[in-house]
Amino acid sequence: MADIIQLLPDHVANQIAAGEVVQRPASVVKELLENAIDAKATSVTLVIKDAGKTLVQVTDNGIGMSVTDARISFERHATSKIKSAEDLFNLHTKGFRGEALASIAAIAHVELKTKNEDSEIGTHLTIEGSKVISQEPAVVPKGTTISVKNLFYNIPARRNFLKSNPVETRHIIDEFHRVALAHPNVAFQMLHNGSDVFNLPSSNSRQRIVNIFGSKTNEKLVPVSEETEILKINGFVLKPEFGKKSRGEQFFFVNDRFIKSAYLHHAVASAFEGLVKNDIHPGYFLFLEVDPHSIDINIHPTKTEIKFDDEHSIYAMLRATVKHSLGQFNIAPILDFERDKGFDTPYDYSKKQPTAPSIEVDRDFNPFREKAKQGNINFPFKREQSQSWESLYVGLKDDAPAISSLGDIEFESEEVTGNLFENPETETGQISFQIQNKYIVSPLKNGMMVIHQNLAHQRVLYEELLKNITVKEAVSQQLLFPLQLHFSKPDVEIIEKIREQLEHTGFIFSQLKDETIEISGIPVLILESHVVNLLSQLVHDIKEEVPESGFSQNDMLAKSMAASMAIKTGISLGKEEREHLINQLFACKEPSVSPTNKPVFTILEVNDLDKKFM
Ligand code: ADP
Ligand code: MG
Repeated sequence: MADIIQLLPDHVANQIAAGEVVQRPASVVKELLENAIDAKATSVTLVIKDAGKTLVQVTDNGIGMSVTDARISFERHATSKIKSAEDLFNLHTKGFRGEALASIAAIAHVELKTKNEDSEIGTHLTIEGSKVISQEPAVVPKGTTISVKNLFYNIPARRNFLKSNPVETRHIIDEFHRVALAHPNVAFQMLHNGSDVFNLPSSNSRQRIVNIFGSKTNEKLVPVSEETEILKINGFVLKPEFGKKSRGEQFFFVNDRFIKSAYLHHAVASAFEGLVKNDIHPGYFLFLEVDPHSIDINIHPTKTEIKFDDEHSIYAMLRATVKHSLGQFNIAPILDFERDKGFDTPYDYSKKQPTAPSIEVDRDFNPFREKAKQGNINFPFKREQSQSWESLYVGLKDDAPAISSLGDIEFESEEVTGNLFENPETETGQISFQIQNKYIVSPLKNGMMVIHQNLAHQRVLYEELLKNITVKEAVSQQLLFPLQLHFSKPDVEIIEKIREQLEHTGFIFSQLKDETIEISGIPVLILESHVVNLLSQLVHDIKEEVPESGFSQNDMLAKSMAASMAIKTGISLGKEEREHLINQLFACKEPSVSPTNKPVFTILEVNDLDKKFM
């Protein structure tokens, strides 16, 4: 048989390599920013168009390249950063594989303009799909500009695989944050479709964090610092009360390189143990310095994972250092473990003096009673009642009477327990009770129905909100004092994008700018004190996945708001509250599934019960 093995042509090899290096526009951003840092730039500008799908351009004022270097930089394995294998263990640069430019040039239209210190005149090079199209002298300042256009133009499958613009932009911003946080002394700018996203002057590490995540971040930072023979740790952790439900700001840098490490994360998380609730993730910006000989970065093509020689000691030191900082800055003693969940909000109310949470439960209060009697089908939270309604959320666990004699079944209201055995019929002919403050049980003709209270309420709110957003007829409750909230700039921009829909639900924004949101009216369905949590959850959900079309965005918005607003499990409901919820649920178009497609109730028929007694 004839020989069949042949060497792949370079451009094919490059395309294959590109599959590893370039997954999405954000990968290009990372490689170009890192090259700029390696070139000792003090100022770097990132310009993107259409979430990087049309253009990613990085301009730096670094050392630039000679004519020959410019040409060779696009060859595979062309690097100025290492010369031998030993150098791999003494890395002081971000790059070393010499693959990025070759890979990028294989799958995009690339333009390079560069000039080094010694040259009078610079170079302008155009490459498309690994082919040099033109190379000519050009008058350019010292430094380098690389423009990457039409990414994956020659690999349609990859291009189609890209996510929506907001999602791709999110990935780009993540990469931008990582490089910018690791190099606070370098000035960074980022523009998207012509407008400023970030403008970060050269600064120290604390200022850089604040410039990125908003001025309110400053007071949340607890400095961390330790130096031992094998490890130097610097940086900040966020005070425990600013931990988030979603993994928010969690950054490890080793020798100025952003890394992911579940192991190190565990070290930090365990230092927070007891200071945050189980479902809250601590935030941190930690900069570790170790001898480059003691790490191996070479285990991941995009280099976000590294291997330490002495992982165990690093774990122990990191944990101890963070613990020490939390203790030293008096974080631990001020914590109140039983405090209201509302206080776990990552954002401050501006100008509001902190006051001790008062735990008062108005056991007689029933938010459903007033309007239910008036036969109003709107979800009946009245503004004047909000204090009392809030009190329903507070301290219930401790205050709720422990009716343990009935095992797991807890009848909430005394009238019902009394009624149950005499005349259980309510006005509407329904009877219901609650199990574990979670399920509502209601007898049916041929069995019984078990309703999940949280999912049921989500369904009710979801349909109501969706109607309001699309039909635009929601009612607002005017706030006496406008609510001022602080978010990071990008988060405010996200809210700006959904402003119209939010207004349809009843929000009135008097200001939406930079890092400040001022709200003068809120939907009647919610409480002022829940607004911060609701908006942060919304922003989080949108960052995770934004459908492009108007309809599905409304849908997502309604889902997210319904999830934040719905009665939680653990809340005990009185008789009328239960009834009202059941009535509202069955007035819905689709009562049987939650907005996130979970079953809302289940029916146990007498037949099923009979089987249990055979
Ligand atoms: P690596 O960074 O792994 O060396 P790259 O493909 O990213 O590989 O870059 C190849 C070479 O091109 C680099 O080693 C460097 O010498 C040169 N280079 C790339 N970008 C720049 C830049 N912005 N300024 C100066 N030189 C650069
Ligand atoms: Mg590189």
